[in-house]
Amino acid sequence: MNPIPMLDLKREYEYMKKDIDAAIARCLEHQQWIKGPEVAELEEKIAEYLGVKHCIGVASGTDALVISLRALAIKLKGKEFFDCDDEIITTPFTFVATGDAILRAGAIPVFVDIEPKTLNIDPAAVKAYLEKNPSRVVGILPVHLYGNACDMDAIMDIASERGLFVVEDAAQAMGGAWDGKKLGSIGDAGALSFFPSKNLGGFGDGGMVVANDNELEEQARMLMQHGGKDKYRSEHVGYNSRLDTLQAAVLLAKSKYLEEMNERRRNLASIYDEYLQDLEQVTPLQPLEKSYSVYNQYTVIVRGDIRDELADCLRTRKISTSIYYKLPLHKMNAFVKKMKLGTTLHKAEVAAKQVLSLPIEPLMGSEQIKRITKDIKSF
Ligand SMILES: *Cc1c(COP(=O)(O)O)cnc(C)c1O
Repeated sequence: MNPIPMLDLKREYEYMKKDIDAAIARCLEHQQWIKGPEVAELEEKIAEYLGVKHCIGVASGTDALVISLRALAIKLKGKEFFDCDDEIITTPFTFVATGDAILRAGAIPVFVDIEPKTLNIDPAAVKAYLEKNPSRVVGILPVHLYGNACDMDAIMDIASERGLFVVEDAAQAMGGAWDGKKLGSIGDAGALSFFPSKNLGGFGDGGMVVANDNELEEQARMLMQHGGKDKYRSEHVGYNSRLDTLQAAVLLAKSKYLEEMNERRRNLASIYDEYLQDLEQVTPLQPLEKSYSVYNQYTVIVRGDIRDELADCLRTRKISTSIYYKLPLHKMNAFVKKMKLGTTLHKAEVAAKQVLSLPIEPLMGSEQIKRITKDIKSF
């Protein structure tokens, strides 16, 4: 029985080795570790791929969120940070960085409930909160969880009706799309992550701010480098948050394979969907029709309080699984002090008890999925 891991980065490296090794060798030759030529090249390449005007390389996906939000505070309010009673609506069912970025930008995260078929933020819940408490809300931060698009038509409509900004957390959704538009390119700004397990992953941390607006680009570029156009003209409370040249080089080499890897993920997901379709207690998520999902995770909902038992059983069969996420953000101490519960969060709380992500390594074969689903069925 061979083990089936969640992720097999060694195998991916072997697959792309020639390109990656050559890219690293070029860096060793030129020795421009800070702001080397690969950074601008990657920014241009991804901007073209996403169909946006600007991409700004930063040190992580988390920083991409923080810098996007702060650039919006500067642009919209002329202030370094949001006011302490400014509210940003988001989902509690996400990685901690989403809500943390709102706190770090000075605003209050308002958590609203999710939609049970996708586990993404429910536009009806966003609307329900806005109808009761419209006055302090400045923006919406949807998360394309597991690489699957939120209902961006509904979210953009709500935002434009009320003059709110939208920042897309596309950390898990590189290459995904909504109605043909690439995720991250639809709102006022988008945040990408190049964390190694993401669809385009580097050999360490990295991220990117995505925007069409020239002023947002200018502010984000300043914030990312100590808050000024150069060292002697600091204008804002900035960060040292550059994207490494070496990471940019690795990402450029790997970006050639992004579409192929995403197609492989989609194909594996459709095999899972097919093999799992006759089960009642274990059901796959259901992307909306306009979503081109890139399956950073393949996640199922396990009903009847047997999720952890199922995961244990698969572990004994050498099949790895993961739970994203066990605890919604509104249950974490970091948020309890400064958050609002915009609606009841019952669906997010149920999801936290029922989700299970199964291996979806792009280079795995359909026989492995057959084995996994067979084990799930016999359990
Ligand atoms: C990974 C991730 C982030 C943060 O990205 P880092 O590059 O790890 O800082 C933010 N939001 C979501 C939803 C993520 O999955």
